[in-house]
Amino acid sequence: MDYRKQLDEALAIAKDTKSFEFGNDVLGLAPELFRKNFGEKAALVVADNNTWKAAGEAVTKHIQDAGIECRTYIFPEEEFHAEFEFVDRVDKILDSYDAIPVAVGSGVINDLCKLAAFHHEKPYMVVATAASVDGYASSGAVVTKDGAKINIETHAPKVILADNKVLAAAPKEMTAAGYGDLAAKVTSGAEWMIADMFGTEPIITMAWSLVNDSLNDILAENEKIAAGDPDAVGDLFVGLTLTGLAMQIAHTSRPASCSEHLFSHYLDMTEYRYHGKFQSHGFQCAMGTVIMSACFDEFLKMDLSKIDVDACVAAWPTLEQEQQRALEIFKDFPVPQLGYTEITKKYNDAETVRQQLTKVKENWTELKERIQNQVYTYDKMVALMKSVGAPVGPESIGLTRAQVRRMVDFVQLMRWRINLFDLCKRAQIYDALLDRVFGKGGVLEISE
Ligand SMILES: [Zn+2]
Repeated sequence: MDYRKQLDEALAIAKDTKSFEFGNDVLGLAPELFRKNFGEKAALVVADNNTWKAAGEAVTKHIQDAGIECRTYIFPEEEFHAEFEFVDRVDKILDSYDAIPVAVGSGVINDLCKLAAFHHEKPYMVVATAASVDGYASSGAVVTKDGAKINIETHAPKVILADNKVLAAAPKEMTAAGYGDLAAKVTSGAEWMIADMFGTEPIITMAWSLVNDSLNDILAENEKIAAGDPDAVGDLFVGLTLTGLAMQIAHTSRPASCSEHLFSHYLDMTEYRYHGKFQSHGFQCAMGTVIMSACFDEFLKMDLSKIDVDACVAAWPTLEQEQQRALEIFKDFPVPQLGYTEITKKYNDAETVRQQLTKVKENWTELKERIQNQVYTYDKMVALMKSVGAPVGPESIGLTRAQVRRMVDFVQLMRWRINLFDLCKRAQIYDALLDRVFGKGGVLEISE
């Protein structure tokens, strides 16, 4: 697929990222890209043992052969996460060595360098080694501090370089995670349509196009992606990068994330482990996307042109009631105030709810059709995830259906953005919808 024109338009207006080169055998472009963007600065290549072998060594050689002053730092740890102590290590090197970080790696190395570069008010470059997350081109760095994952707003890389063969050689699980993270854009897009109709977050056309114009085509390459075809895995990486650029252009993660990502955030915040291991962002999002696909299936079977707006408005709780409900749900959560804070931000008074529901009721046919064209059925989403080795439901990452059903109550409340569940709450169909999904006869029927 040819993305160059759309990418160049996006790069011209993206907040941080100015160069993105990808394709087969492109690691040799590293020195040229480096000089073009950073002038005569020195380079600090940061890698771990795996990414050093995958691309770090080759990139370092290219940079040094071109006469660019370059040092390297290779993390010796076999397995590590984006912890602050590792950021400190890169920070300390940059304290005494005035260089531009070149992060060689997937999510973790990128996040560490992103933060260290930010601490030193420097731009940086990333050489991708796996199509595993959409965070390559985003400005958020996810790091762990005192056991809790936190998302820090920084700057996205100025330069991204990705070699298809390097990406295709990454562990299959990482590619599957990236596929899950890209598939998340299917359901988050549908939720953006709802927020758009409510007028709380109107769709930003360019950001929307960047994510959605190629989304279905790339997801349809599932068989080739699963087989490790370099061009298909390269396309997956481009798709993920496009969503990163969309976030930079929209100045919000709305183009790439909604409820399905909140399942992942919930699991991060509760430090969820399966077989003793944290589950990757992409795997958690894949699970969330499958759940949201099931919810949309049932949502689309409902007829919101028949809702009794007066009755819904009469039943609409006060802000104080909503705050109490949030405090009750979150009382044993690691961040007990989260639901309270977010519902306070997104609460609408009864009159606004009346307007929102009237709009949905009057435009139901159109809204339903738009959402139907955007989402995949649960069956299709499960089949796609399965084909690439991504999670197909709660059990894939060691959760029960009952646990995930309870998580939905948190997901509805844990971010200020309007989501599918907010619409269902307003229309008084929240419980009915979840019963259809998790109750008797539902695709995720809870049997225990
Ligand atoms: Zn993501």
